[in-house]
Amino acid sequence: MSFTEASFQELKSEIDAWVRGPGEEYANVIEQTGSVPPELFADLKQHGYFSLAAPEHLGGKGIPFDRYLELMEIFSRSHGSVRMLVHVINGTWRAMEPFATDEQRESIIKPSVAGDTLVAFTLTEATAGSGADLRSTVRREGDTYILNGEKHLITFGVKCNYWLLAARLEGATGKEGFIALLLPNTGLPGVEVIDDSETMGIRGTDHAILRFTNVAVPVSARLGDEGEGLAVTLGGFLLPSRVSVAMSCVGLAERAQELAVEYANRRETFGKRIAERQAIQFMLAENYADIAAARALVLEAARAFEAGAANAGILSSASKMIAVDMITRVTDKALQIHGGQGYWKRNTIERVYRDARAPRFEEGTNEIQKQVVARAVLNGTSAY
Ligand SMILES: Cc1cc2nc3c(=O)[nH]c(=O)nc-3n(C[C@H](O)[C@H](O)[C@H](O)COP(=O)(O)OP(=O)(O)OC[C@H]3O[C@@H](n4cnc5c(N)ncnc54)[C@H](O)[C@@H]3O)c2cc1C
Repeated sequence: MSFTEASFQELKSEIDAWVRGPGEEYANVIEQTGSVPPELFADLKQHGYFSLAAPEHLGGKGIPFDRYLELMEIFSRSHGSVRMLVHVINGTWRAMEPFATDEQRESIIKPSVAGDTLVAFTLTEATAGSGADLRSTVRREGDTYILNGEKHLITFGVKCNYWLLAARLEGATGKEGFIALLLPNTGLPGVEVIDDSETMGIRGTDHAILRFTNVAVPVSARLGDEGEGLAVTLGGFLLPSRVSVAMSCVGLAERAQELAVEYANRRETFGKRIAERQAIQFMLAENYADIAAARALVLEAARAFEAGAANAGILSSASKMIAVDMITRVTDKALQIHGGQGYWKRNTIERVYRDARAPRFEEGTNEIQKQVVARAVLNGTSAY
């Protein structure tokens, strides 16, 4: 599809109807069974919802990033696992594409955009800090790398076809030592996959602990050159991905607010609907302002990325900082408006509240985002 405003508006309405209809039915199934049914994945794929953001030459719809985020906003009103699938699959091609060989593009990136191959972003380690602080190592022996190490908290790490994995050349210290591997999840000797999916929210999405003991990996599985591993995993990928997570917060906060309004209009105490009480009205008004402010900043960050602006990086981290704090406040107030009922699983706000906690970790905590922002502020590259 070539991007036109009319077709985009049609797509927005279609996604909104999907989220409110089948999306909500899938949400109930996921909460009851604790897993994402294969039909949900097939449904999202069949609608083309995994190929919204990728360019046309990769088989995507080529929707500009800032406009794609308007769609992410709608998906995020759904179950956390729906949001996670759409967010991750529409994003991982960005990490791979600038570094891929023709063979990797044909055999991994295009199938991932089509929804035929699932790639898990595999960075975080239990014994190291977030991001560049890695302990997983590779040792080169001719045309083979010998991989050792452990990863954890890896979304889709159990069911994926490939792990996009960051490691360090044995003995190297600086960023020259980083490499990225596209490691097939095909039962390679020395690979242990532990299902670690019992999470607070985003139920049904699989997460893995991965252990690698002397795993022989062909050098041809490397993405980019030796020394480009940081650029692959952190460089061009995290910046837009943080903005996408920030927009996920906006969408989910809108859902929380919608639920709070419905409940406030329905619930009567002391002879009056609680919506008529100023205390409740103030919470709803604060939520509205909070969401609108975060949304405006997220869209500004998205437009800066789309335009390749110099301040895209700082805006990306700043928007995520603001959005995750916003969703914490908004979902807390929305649940408060539900009274004790909100604490029970039969009410959707309980799920929304749990799902809202995850974005505070995804793509780095606010403590890390603040470091990024502070660096730019202090070195004078923080122009508005
Ligand atoms: C739902 C979910 C899905 C995830 N999916 C993936 C995935 O697919 N792939 C992947 O690689 N990772 C994934 N993660 C991991 C996520 O990126 C990390 O949890 C996050 O970056 C924080 O790192 P950590 O858990 O190691 O926390 P830690 O680094 O152990 O931090 C613990 C606390 O200390 C603070 N802290 C740490 N270092 C500093 C510092 N230098 N200065 C100040 N404070 C600091 C942190 O902010 C945090 O509050 C996922 C996490 C969640 C919750």
